[in-house]
Amino acid sequence: MKASIMVLPGDGIGPEVTSKAIAVLEKIASKYGHEFTFNEALMGGIAIDKFGTALPDETLRLGEQSDAILLGAVGGPKWDNPTAPVRPEQGLLKIRKHFGLFANLRPVKTYPALIEYTPLRPEMLEGVDMLFIRELTGGIYFGPRQEAGDGDSSYDTMLYTRPEIERVAHVAFRAAQGRRKKLTSVDKANVLAVMRLWRKTVVEVHEDYADVALEHLLVDAMTMHLLTRPSSFDVVVAGNMFGDIITDEASVLSGSLGMLPSASLASERFGLYEPIHGSAPDIAGQGKANPTGTILSTAMLLRYSLDLETEAQAIEQAVENVLAEGARTADIAHGGSFISTDEFAQAILNQI
Ligand code: NAD
Repeated sequence: MKASIMVLPGDGIGPEVTSKAIAVLEKIASKYGHEFTFNEALMGGIAIDKFGTALPDETLRLGEQSDAILLGAVGGPKWDNPTAPVRPEQGLLKIRKHFGLFANLRPVKTYPALIEYTPLRPEMLEGVDMLFIRELTGGIYFGPRQEAGDGDSSYDTMLYTRPEIERVAHVAFRAAQGRRKKLTSVDKANVLAVMRLWRKTVVEVHEDYADVALEHLLVDAMTMHLLTRPSSFDVVVAGNMFGDIITDEASVLSGSLGMLPSASLASERFGLYEPIHGSAPDIAGQGKANPTGTILSTAMLLRYSLDLETEAQAIEQAVENVLAEGARTADIAHGGSFISTDEFAQAILNQI
């Protein structure tokens, strides 16, 4: 297969981890007979420095000609002023909107080799393997709002339309069909009208997926169930804000931010793939970045944008083997010995 991938290294450790992810994709291409081309473009602080905007038009144009986007991370102390008119994270919101990336997928699993270092009791975490699907382009982060300005009231609006809920529910049910056939929908239907529409719509979409078991949980209850019975969840779907909060809570179950990948999908096959962590300016340039989240994001890219499931699993298995062998980057060494970003990525390449 031929595929063209736009790479946005971004800031901080972004370039360090994306270069390792490209090496993994190149290895996959040579092993399985594919031809991937990589086109680098600018987004984030580095784009602000060069063009005065976090997401230049040239980057959007290049993205439109690509099959998928691989992103490192954006931001850093140099651009962190929250009142500055131009900020790196504006690039993230703009690129999601531009490409209609409405479904954010975050798998969270625990690795037997790391389980003892997570904050919950190890026996609670055995078999944790969930896929969160967060609606990404609607809800309260995009609804009508009023800043307080000089006055003393302001508001944000949680607004969802039926089609917005339907399309993310279809993504979630289809994902559940390919896994353990269980979907948990998270809402606040006891209080919010918009969440009653959410629940009603998810129930309607369920009619097309009779083989999937559906449960509904209120978001406040979900925060507890995530900690008391994490291994009982398979696929979890939630609106934008609730999804934002519960996916961060769930990320601690895996032991390090550096381990987790994500995919943001549009309709059809197009998607943007990135680790869930930020630009980690505190460790940038020191060879301490864990490239796993970005490398596992390339597995998601192969699975969802290129339909290369065998190749995706080859990467995931390689990561598991490297951890089982005892290789660790600094963030998952817990005081023990660790190897550099380069060495860890090389170990994964050797396993593929
Ligand atoms: P962060 O995720 O960058 O770092 C939090 C902590 O985790 C740090 O101690 C860091 O060293 C560590 N860490 C993160 N990724 C790691 C990795 N791959 N390997 C090893 N350790 C890792 O979050 P932060 O410190 O709150 O934010 C730093 C900058 O990143 C800010 O400018 C923020 O706005 C930006 N940010 C960007 C994104 C994104 O691009 N999607 C997401 C979150 C934060």
